[in-house]
Amino acid sequence: MKQGEHAQQSGGNAGPSNEGSGGASGLPSRLGEYYLDTVPDTLDLAERGQLGIGHFTSLLEERLGYEMPIMAHLAVGRPPFMQYILNDIGTCQPKALEAMAFLRLMTGSKVGLDKESRMVEMMALMLGDDGLYWVPGSPDKTWLGIPEPFAAVHGQGRMLRAMIAWYQYTGDPAWKRRIDRMVEGLDKVLSVHKDDYAYFPNHGFYDEEYLRSCFTHKGWKDQIEPKNEKAGEEGSLFNHQGHMPGALATWYQLTGNEQSLRLSGELVRFLTKPKFWADISTLTPADLAAYAPWQQFPAISGPEYPAVIGAEHAHWQGHIHGHINTLRALLEYALATDDERLKAFVRDGYEWTRQEGFIRIGYIGDGQGCGLGRLIGLAVKLSNAGVGDYWEDIDQYIRNQGTEMQIMPDDREYMESLSVGKPPPPKTYALPGDVRNTDHVIDKVIGGFGGHIIKDSVWLCCSPHGNMGLFYAWDGGLRYDEGTARVNLLLNRASPWVDIYSYIPYEGKVILKNKESREVLVRMPLWIDRQQLQVRVGSSPVANVWLGNYIRLRDLKPRDVVTIEFPMRESTEKWTVRKLHRFLKGPEEEVCTCRFKGNTLVEMSPDLFGSPLYKGRAKQYQISKAPMRQVTRFVTPKVLTW
Ligand SMILES: [Zn+2]
Repeated sequence: MKQGEHAQQSGGNAGPSNEGSGGASGLPSRLGEYYLDTVPDTLDLAERGQLGIGHFTSLLEERLGYEMPIMAHLAVGRPPFMQYILNDIGTCQPKALEAMAFLRLMTGSKVGLDKESRMVEMMALMLGDDGLYWVPGSPDKTWLGIPEPFAAVHGQGRMLRAMIAWYQYTGDPAWKRRIDRMVEGLDKVLSVHKDDYAYFPNHGFYDEEYLRSCFTHKGWKDQIEPKNEKAGEEGSLFNHQGHMPGALATWYQLTGNEQSLRLSGELVRFLTKPKFWADISTLTPADLAAYAPWQQFPAISGPEYPAVIGAEHAHWQGHIHGHINTLRALLEYALATDDERLKAFVRDGYEWTRQEGFIRIGYIGDGQGCGLGRLIGLAVKLSNAGVGDYWEDIDQYIRNQGTEMQIMPDDREYMESLSVGKPPPPKTYALPGDVRNTDHVIDKVIGGFGGHIIKDSVWLCCSPHGNMGLFYAWDGGLRYDEGTARVNLLLNRASPWVDIYSYIPYEGKVILKNKESREVLVRMPLWIDRQQLQVRVGSSPVANVWLGNYIRLRDLKPRDVVTIEFPMRESTEKWTVRKLHRFLKGPEEEVCTCRFKGNTLVEMSPDLFGSPLYKGRAKQYQISKAPMRQVTRFVTPKVLTW
């Protein structure tokens, strides 16, 4: 990006230009309206998103150049500290940038807009003339790991996604120019084209983990084609480059950029090579040894069932985050090109992925707060596209791990206790050369997502994806088209089309206040007894018309109030839960007795390997009448393509 261009557009306090918004503080109010309302005190994703935006903006400080720390360590020593290290700005902060656009849109929050606009300006200035996102590494910035400017492959795809979100959120054409230029840079500078496919090389001039796939002005050290999926950062090629074609395909769908679609297709043809899928039998002992430090992602073990050709069905073992990101990217390309075989491949991959862990509550992978956020994104996208119907899964995920992994104000006492009586943290922790910050750490992590189920660390990897999981469920939970609203999740939600008041899981009741819908389709969870479902419009009972799992309400008028009632169902289930991370306490496997109200886990015994999760729920949900409270609701008609 040209420096002059940015100065002209941002000016004063306005930050990223946004077509006459009247400065940074005016941005969200232009997008929607606020009003006071009384709602059941049940899960409200917009409220969770407010905590999220508070978290991200609290991490920004002028004296640290608006760079975000990559980790907060709450249990390593006293005081707890945050650490600036490695690829925070190069890889993870662009994820936060993307999440912040989503969170602003869903919440209308005005918290920290000035700091945010400084951050956006700082990050936009990192874009080079070649369109790539360059981290200004230097010998002074030891925490960045590389003493010269570099472009992390992983971060390019993340920045591309972030810019696509900001382009739609602000409407600023400067983002379009930046994105088009980045597509050009990815195509001409960073990738290697071969036959009908393309890939990003694995080797720059720095050998350490996370630095290996960084490109510098010297170029790539070698351009050898990566030979297997395990040959990448964190033991996964997919982890650092699998997400790229998705952003490129989405950009084509938004703007028709043919170069973006062509490059996306070339990358997809590389990533779908059979050698990268169901690869256990092809890995050499050396490949497996290279993966050994990453066995928590989760462990690789065992072959396929007989007669299953796993590579044709997106089966995989290894790095869960990389594979989910790649599946989503493949889906985005499949949607852009109407490729039905690729859509089915992704669906198979999603269903394979959701077999592991304790999926009933969304406890998967290595238990990080980010993995499930990614899976929610994939499930919502598959469902919206009609490739599958995973709303029941999403309801189970978001009511449990998808929100329980978020750091809440109620966690403060627990998090304080983690470092009590401990000596100061060691001078070197994890990696040398870090910069630290001990200022109000506990306050700042609230709204973030735990790096582990113990909630003893909060990472800039997990917090953005955890918060994006909130957004994906919020966005997918209610859709509107040409007078028809489709309610996919029975969660509190305000919108210009219909407002949803959910009393679940205290009561089997949902109220819809219509605004401008003529027809509403409401998906009912699988646990509901259809025979006992009662629906009224105003005070008049209406017959239940079922379309699959949806009831159909027609001929609605503005201000109609729809009341849906059904008996709340409690169930007790036994599930065998594997320990997903080696440092957790307890046996390798435990049989948990779980009590659910609907899809909400209210109690489990024993607990999840010594974690603090779900401990307050039994008390919270012992009553069978939902408390009410007054809130400010924000509605926007703006819908983002993500
Ligand atoms: Zn993470």
